[in-house]
Amino acid sequence: MSQAEIGLIGLGVMGANLALNIAEKGNRIAVFNRTVETTRKFHADAGELKSRIVPCETIEEFVAAIRPPRPIIIMIKAGEAVDQQMEALKPHLASGDIMIDAGNANFRDTMRRFDSLKDTGLTFIGMGVSGGEEGARHGPSIMVGGTEESYARVEEVLTSIAAKYDGEPCVAWLGENGAGHFVKTIHNGIEYADMQMIAEIYGILRDGLRMTAEEIGEVFGTWNRGRLNSYLIEITEKVLKATDPLTGKPMVDMILDKAGQKGTGKWSAIEAQTMGVPATGIEAAVAARSISSMKEERETAEKILGLPSVGEFQVADKAAFITDLENALLAAKIGAYAQGFAVMSAASKEFGWSLPMPTIARIWRAGCIIRSQFLDEITSAFTKAPDAANLIVTPAFAALVKETDGALRRIVSAAVLGGLPVPALASALGYFDSYRRGRGTANVIQAQRDFFGAHGFDRVDGADSHHGPWGSGLNG
Ligand code: NAP
Repeated sequence: MSQAEIGLIGLGVMGANLALNIAEKGNRIAVFNRTVETTRKFHADAGELKSRIVPCETIEEFVAAIRPPRPIIIMIKAGEAVDQQMEALKPHLASGDIMIDAGNANFRDTMRRFDSLKDTGLTFIGMGVSGGEEGARHGPSIMVGGTEESYARVEEVLTSIAAKYDGEPCVAWLGENGAGHFVKTIHNGIEYADMQMIAEIYGILRDGLRMTAEEIGEVFGTWNRGRLNSYLIEITEKVLKATDPLTGKPMVDMILDKAGQKGTGKWSAIEAQTMGVPATGIEAAVAARSISSMKEERETAEKILGLPSVGEFQVADKAAFITDLENALLAAKIGAYAQGFAVMSAASKEFGWSLPMPTIARIWRAGCIIRSQFLDEITSAFTKAPDAANLIVTPAFAALVKETDGALRRIVSAAVLGGLPVPALASALGYFDSYRRGRGTANVIQAQRDFFGAHGFDRVDGADSHHGPWGSGLNG
């Protein structure tokens, strides 16, 4: 029997679906899972793809089944498990073999793992995979970081399994070492912001306009046929229209308002903060998930403080208000994406990656959770203006911001006056308003810093006097 083109370790939700996708595209694949029974069941259930899958019960058998130089995808729980798995594999590998971590790794771990294999003859790829179970099975978006040579060994297989947008595969080599996992992390950070903004708009429709889940689902369905067309809007319509089989009530009304998180949103915010790049939409979304998890505390606070006493939510023209909501969501989304791309641009310089912004937008157009028509417009904007300091100053997006930020302002104002929390929407508005203002207010902060800490300041007239006349010892 001929050797497998590629190997995969970890037959959990993502690994099993990725392995089936790889086999379905005509590739022979060897698979291994820590729990042997899972491997046996996976193979037994693989149907007509069985003949292309080589189930292996030991690491030795697994490695021997793959054609050298061996690309081995590790799709297991992120963190220490990956280090342990790499250690278990290493003694069996030969020069040129490539370990590919396809889980949601912290890119700093990826950089460490990449470095640890230097001078061993082995190489490491950190590969971000987005699209969940469905994407893994039928076409994910794949973000690759590693050496260009190691990517060349796997390019054909990855191209065959990736999602396609207008026939173009959603996979690309993005740079050395941690580039792929960094981009995946920011993808997830943007996803957090996108989801939070959708949830805030849902909140205005539910608690402000007092609409039912079904009615709100209709609104999202309409928006999905317009400029907001995207996977997240599409699934929001579906979840809002779903009925709970146990009670017959709308499913969303029966779901506890506590959201989980695994870390990629937080990592995005931390990396943005570390590099001094504002990513307020992502930060607001991470904080909102944290506050959502404080359910008991929130219930206690509501008993003590009560909801804001603001009276009835006032809307004169419901149809016009809903159009404003659509435009506000679009504007806020632009803010979040602009911030995400700005973080990647800073990281590209910081880590020497030369991240290709138009390519990143291009491979996010299909397969991944934030896939949308909007990303096609971002691809085009960055292709025309690759050196733009920020997405919102590219001609196409500057025009879109000017067109929609009035709606965002009206919606944020209405929500604030109505006592409804909109931290992510408000963050986008604050970002636009501060980013577009040539003369801000940090002159006061510099004066305060100079007053208490003699930190000095630059003057608007360029004069050579860098301290204020605050008191003894601080002047001059
Ligand atoms: P999962 O269904 O929980 O499966 C976990 C897999 O990891 C199992 O095969 C398990 O083997 C293996 N494993 C756990 N600890 C191990 C260890 N110490 N040594 C060896 N194998 C170990 O997880 P998943 O959803 O497929 O996620 C896998 C990775 O993909 C994670 O990094 C996740 O963050 C990432 N990811 C997930 C999604 C998603 O939508 N689920 C999307 C993108 C990326 P056993 O069967 O022996 O327990």
